[in-house]
Amino acid sequence: MSAEEEIGAELQVILDSLKARVLWSGEQGYPLPFSYRRGLAEAAKITAQAAYAPDKKEPICRSLSLDDVRSDLGDCRRCSLCSLRTNLVFGEGNPRAELVFVGEAPGGDEDREGRPFVGRAGQLLTRIINAMGMKREDVYICNILKCRPPGNRSPEPAEIAACEPFLIRQLRAVAPRVICALGAFAAKTLLKKEDVSITALRGRFHTYEGIKVMPTFHPAYLLRNPAAKKPVWEDIQMIMKELAGNG
Ligand code: URA
Repeated sequence: MSAEEEIGAELQVILDSLKARVLWSGEQGYPLPFSYRRGLAEAAKITAQAAYAPDKKEPICRSLSLDDVRSDLGDCRRCSLCSLRTNLVFGEGNPRAELVFVGEAPGGDEDREGRPFVGRAGQLLTRIINAMGMKREDVYICNILKCRPPGNRSPEPAEIAACEPFLIRQLRAVAPRVICALGAFAAKTLLKKEDVSITALRGRFHTYEGIKVMPTFHPAYLLRNPAAKKPVWEDIQMIMKELAGNG
């Protein structure tokens, strides 16, 4: 990647996160200050300029693909989790999936394998996907964070700020019809609802950039609380109906 291309890609990440923030503010009904909108327009202009390689006269970010996002992420050093990871866990599955599952962050098994949801909670998620009549390869699976927090502690705001722009771009690249947010952390981060519990959020669809989002309990929680399998199955059935066009 040339220096111009790197700047273009970096600016694209910044612009994406700014856009997401503006969209979210609009969805929440907050009036957007003029300077904010002007800032966004300016950023869009700069990105558009930077995204043209001067010698090739071609836009860098012509079409956003998961491969583009992965290569922009590179050997990520954007937060301190990088020094602790064995593997970065980008996400996996069908790049054109109609359904995306978003979890919290890799655990020990995922960190070792570099793949999302491969430990005990992951095996339960796989069983849920199979019970929906699908295979793991039919859906796309990723996390809010791409590196494991030490001791599986909750992600910190600086880590989310560094990682979220890539999740935003992944979700735009896949452009699913439905996102299933696994657990309080994924639901709150995607929906920007800091003070609402997963119990209050689950059971109905929300919207993220025009995509339907169903929050539900995390599979790891189900392993500890098998009684929560019933509400999760109700949420999953609502997703199945939505995907079948009977939502
Ligand atoms: N828990 C998560 O939230 N994500 C994983 O990938 C594994 C466990």
